[in-house]
Formats: sequence, structure tokens, C-alpha cells
Amino acid sequence: MTASILISEVGLRDGLQNISETMATADKKTWIAAQYAAGCREMEVGSFVPARLLPQLADTAEITRYAATLPGLCVAVLAPNLRGLRDAVENGAHKVTLPFSMSETHSLRNLNRTHAQVLEEIGACVSYLATLPKARRSMFEVSLSTAFGCTLEGPVAEARVLAFAEQLVGLGVDEVSLSDTTGYGNPAQLKRLVTGIWERCGPEKLTGVHLHNTRGQGLANALMAIELGITTLDSSLGGIGGCPFAPGASGNIVTEDLVFLLESMGLRTGIDLAALLAVREQVKAALPGVELFGFTAAAGLPLGYQAA
Ligand code: ZN
Repeated sequence: MTASILISEVGLRDGLQNISETMATADKKTWIAAQYAAGCREMEVGSFVPARLLPQLADTAEITRYAATLPGLCVAVLAPNLRGLRDAVENGAHKVTLPFSMSETHSLRNLNRTHAQVLEEIGACVSYLATLPKARRSMFEVSLSTAFGCTLEGPVAEARVLAFAEQLVGLGVDEVSLSDTTGYGNPAQLKRLVTGIWERCGPEKLTGVHLHNTRGQGLANALMAIELGITTLDSSLGGIGGCPFAPGASGNIVTEDLVFLLESMGLRTGIDLAALLAVREQVKAALPGVELFGFTAAAGLPLGYQAA
């Protein structure tokens, strides 16, 4: 276990893309500034997809440029293809994640692409990045989405996930990440996948996981991940976005609860929990009608709570 963990806030992307309301650009900037001030040092701020597909994230370019003005903040974005990656780089994103569904059925349904076509696109992304001067190169991560199971195909063979991880690292991606897109995962499975990828690719090629809380297993999986030595965890403020399949369940892990878990265990996140709870109130006011999740906000900080 490492003494400090990087929390990557994904509420502005994974959260906002899963609600019907569109948050005003000014409110997104206020959110980013406030959570940065609370100590958050990585945020996934949007997705470079056509605005007609995700109108909630249509201002991703502007938001990316704004976030990049905050010193020391790693500005992460999603890009489904080379075109999105180029836009991300041009707008100053530090980290770009391309989702690659381990389920081919899911890949066809979501990106209209076979595995072979996605791999070809990833190869083109790596080639494009290689043409850039180092200072302008974004860190390029491919997320192994639906790695823990798929709502269309059911179980996803672990051997397939490990083989793709190895192939992607061979293609030259900087890192792969494991994504429990569907909230099917359990800690034993996470352990097998993480250690399997580390054995094949080296621990430096997988440092982060993206977990969902669809069946309430998000924090259990997160705890396993950090005990193994994973150093970056994705989570969403207020669990925004919820889960369409499981009413009452947050989509991603709730950032406030994750900070509480880690800090009370003595693991530093750099995030001031009281300040984070105040950010939650701001976001709540900016999104009236959107349900926020989380136990720590509901119960309050325990008497005598001490950060790590
Ligand atoms: Zn997600």
C-alpha cells in the first residue's frame, strides 16, 4: 500500500454525461476551481465527442483550456478516436483516455467498431503522438472498459483482458487502466486482473482503476486495488450520474466517501474533506433536481475526525 493516493475526479465527465440536465459552462468552471482549491489534483473534465452525441459535454474544449490554467492540476479527458485525441492535445489536455471495450458486442453497439478497428485507431493515435514534441504530448491511456463483465455479453474472459493489455502496451500506449463500466466487479476478480496485467506488462503500465458502485462493491474493490499498490482511483463528487440500472446506487464511487475511507486509514489524498463537502453543496445548487449520493455527506464527519 502506498502512503498517498491520487483521486481522479470524473464527475464532470462520467457524472455529467449520465444526467439529462446540462450544467452551465460557468458552473463547471466554478466546480473545477473549488475542487482544485480543496486539494484535488486530477480531474477528467470532459469528452471530445461530437456535441450531438453528448450535448452535456459540448463545451469540453473550453473547459479543458480553463482547467489547464490551474497550476499542478492534471487535466484528463476522454477521446474515442484519433480526431478526439487531436482536439484534446490542441486544447492542452495532459492525459487522454481512449475507452476500448473488452466486449466486442459492446464496442460495436457504442463505437460501431470491431476490436480490430479500435486497435487500428489506437495505433494511429500512438503514431500521431510520436510526431509531437515531448512538451506537447499528452499521456495516452487506454481504458479496458467492461473488463469485469458486460451487460450485453455477460462474463468477459479474463484471459482476453490480459491479452489485450499486453497487445496495447506492445502498440506503445503509455498505460492501460481497468474499468468496471458495468459494476459487475468483485475484489478477487480485481486482484486477478491487476496482478495478471502487472505480470505481463509491468506495474508501471497499470496504475489506475475506474470503478462503479452499481452493486455497492465500489469501495470494497477500491480497497483491494490500493492494497495491491494501485495509486490512482477514479471517483465522482456526489456519485453524480447515478446508475440507470440500479436506482438508488451511485454510478462511480462517491469522492467524499472515498476521501473519508483513505484519509481515515492514514492514506493521504491531499483533499480537504470539509472543503470537498462545501464543493458538493455548490454543485448541488447548480444542478437542482439531480440526485446526489454518498454516506459521508449525509452522516457528517465523525467527532474528532483527523485527516492523514
Ligand atoms: Zn464510468
